[in-house]
Parts: sequence; C-alpha cells; structure tokens
Amino acid sequence: MSAALMPVEAALARLLELAEATSIEERETLPLAEARGRVLAEPLVAGLDLPPWPNSAMDGYALRQADWRGEPLRVTQRIFAGQAPGPLEPGTCARIFTGAPLPEGADCVEMQENAEVLEDGRVRFLETLEAGQHVRPQGQETRRGEQVLDAGTRLGPVELGLCATLGVAEVTVRRKPRVAVLSTGDELVEPGLPLGPGQIYNSNRRLLCSWLEQLGCAVVDAGILPDDLARTRARLGELGDVDLILSTGGVSVGEADFLGKVLREDGELELWKLAIKPGKPLTFGRYKGVPVIGLPGNPASTLVTFSLLARPYLLRRLGVRKVAPLRFPVPAGFTWHKPGTRREFLRVRLEEGRAVLYANQSSGVLRGVAWADGLVEVPEGRTLAEGEMVGFIPLSELLV
Ligand code: AMP
Ligand code: MG
Repeated sequence: MSAALMPVEAALARLLELAEATSIEERETLPLAEARGRVLAEPLVAGLDLPPWPNSAMDGYALRQADWRGEPLRVTQRIFAGQAPGPLEPGTCARIFTGAPLPEGADCVEMQENAEVLEDGRVRFLETLEAGQHVRPQGQETRRGEQVLDAGTRLGPVELGLCATLGVAEVTVRRKPRVAVLSTGDELVEPGLPLGPGQIYNSNRRLLCSWLEQLGCAVVDAGILPDDLARTRARLGELGDVDLILSTGGVSVGEADFLGKVLREDGELELWKLAIKPGKPLTFGRYKGVPVIGLPGNPASTLVTFSLLARPYLLRRLGVRKVAPLRFPVPAGFTWHKPGTRREFLRVRLEEGRAVLYANQSSGVLRGVAWADGLVEVPEGRTLAEGEMVGFIPLSELLV
C-alpha cells in the first residue's frame, strides 16, 4: 500500500517539468506601481552607477586629506544633499551633510563630532584623517551595466525599491496566468446564505482566489460545481481561455469524481496518491489542452497541497527559479510516536524556539493554520522525541 504512494519530491519534480513545458512567455510592460507580485521577464541591468557620484556618509566637513596638518581650515562652501558643489579651494574645507556630493578636490570627510569650530569660523580637525574616510565612492553599490536582478525574479517591495534606486520606472514582466478556480461539492454554500441541512460554507474558494491574486494570477472565479457529470462538463466548457484549472474536492478515493470522469472522456487524467498528510489524493490532467490540478477538498489539505505543489508549479510557469520555500530545522516541542507512511505537515507555532503543535491536526481545520506560524515536516517513517530537530517552513514563505 505505502509502496504505491508517490513521494512529494517526485510529484513536485513532475509538476515542475510540466510547468516548464507550458511556460507562459507573453510579457507586458508596467509602471512600478502596478508590478508588485509579478515576475521579471528580463534581467534588470543598472543604467547608472550607484551612487552616481561620490557623497558624504556623515554630517561634517569635506577636505583633502593632504591639507590636514593640524592647522585650522577656512570653510569655503556649505553643501546640502541635492546641491551641486563647485570645486574645493585648496587648503580649505567644505561644510557637508549626509548624502551631499563631495566637491571636486575633496577626498575625505570628517564627522562634525571630531571638529572644533573656532570663534573666527575656521575649523580644527582633532584627529588624523585617512583618504576616503566617510566617503561613499561612485559605483560602490552598483556599477552601470551590472545585472542587479535576474529574469524570473518576483517583484516584492524590496525589488521594486531597487528598481526605483536605478531610476527604472517601468518593468517588463510575464503576463498574469489566468487561473480558473472551481469548488466542487453538493454540500457547499457561499457565506452570506443560510446553511441548509448537511451543508457547509465554501472556504476553499476564498482561500484560493485571494491567494492566487496575491501570487500575481488573474483569477477566473468559477464558483461552486455541483457533484453532477453533465453540469461539470458544461461548466468546464464555459471556462474560456485559461492557463490552469484549479479545483478542490471530489478527488477522495471511492467518491464519485465527476471532474475526473470528464477529463477521462474529454481530456487526460492522472490520479496521484501522494505520500503527504494532510493531502494524499491529487488529480493532474488536461481539459482541451488546459492543465488541470485537482486538490483535495479539506481546507488544510488544500492549503498544504497548494503550498507544496500548485504554488511552485504556477511560479515555475512564469520562469521563477527559486520555487522551494525556505525551510530550517527547529527543535520539536512535542513527541511523535507513530511513524507514518506519509510525510506529515503539522501546524505549529514557535514558542520559546520550539515547535508547538496545534491541538487539532485534522485536515478539515483551517483554524489551526490561522493559529500557526508554519508547518513542520515529519518525514515518512519517523518518530520524534521532544527536542529533536524537525524541518520548519514558515507560513509567511508560502502565503505570498
Ligand atoms: P471531497 O474531496 O470532495 O470528498 O472533500 C473532502 C472534504 O472536504 C469533505 O468533508 C468536503 O465537505 C470538504 N470540502 C470540499 N470542498 C470544500 C470547500 N470548498 N470548502 C470547505 N470544505 C470543503
Ligand atoms: Mg466533494
């Protein structure tokens, strides 16, 4: 039984391969203000030196190191940030403020704390000076022509800020993938409507639609799909031009799986049994050439499988290289007695440097994910004593 389960790595490798074969190459050019969460289609190359000219790292005085002999110097200029100074008269100094350009001829800055202003306005420097001190040389940070960001970089606040430091106002990014989100299940009702007998509210739709928007996708919200073959077929036919169909539910063993039936008849279908908990059943297929990923319906399973499989798949279709979330070992603040046949992703909080379990690890419980800081990964066949190291993935790595 356990031999038939597909390891998470194998499933991910397969999905990434499929993603590369269907890479979304179309691009668009956007102002920085509209590019957050998008993926660079071209490397970002510096069009200028940073800093563009040598400038002062301190509030103080700019001078020539060779002019310092312990004698007081006359102040012949005051240079604020944003000003363009003239050359420095030999044998004098300039009052200068942080970020202001160094005047031609000056090669060092002394901070004002080490300068004594005499009654006649001249300044005595109390300590010996070194050429270059407190100066940020031109091009120290970046040289014109250097590649600063690779193609395939996702643009977050820091990357957008970096574009701005280089004076870049527009970036060329991959177009948004269009992702259709389908929630399957006769029991599902949208929030705002009364719950009938046997019904539950549809949580996955909101979870996935908002997550996908944050990921830089254009969401085609296809609503709730009843457990009915004809209506499943009709709804798929209405979806229009999308890059991915993402459904939840209807993939459990033994259930009437209508999406699977349609794919088997009108497309292609692979049913994967993953060595993952929560999770396990996952559908991969194609409908009229459009890739379909069917995630399990229990909300915590949806979250884990989307995080570990569908999210990296989508990012790779946009050319993102680093799709694996950051993981690091933390000491377990719990014991784990029974070795599993599937790798378990447990919802934990870090308390005093240890991973503490949410009390209810059931795959239907989204509340535990909201409580958690992240997931710990208990490998197949492992037990854990308290204090043993276990892999931790912060949720903040995944929910972006
Ligand atoms: P299924 O894979 O359709 O058998 O669903 C597994 C479990 O997840 C069942 O308890 C479903 O009621 C639940 N479920 C499926 N889809 C959703 C959804 N969109 N929101 C909340 N729960 C769901
Ligand atoms: Mg169902």
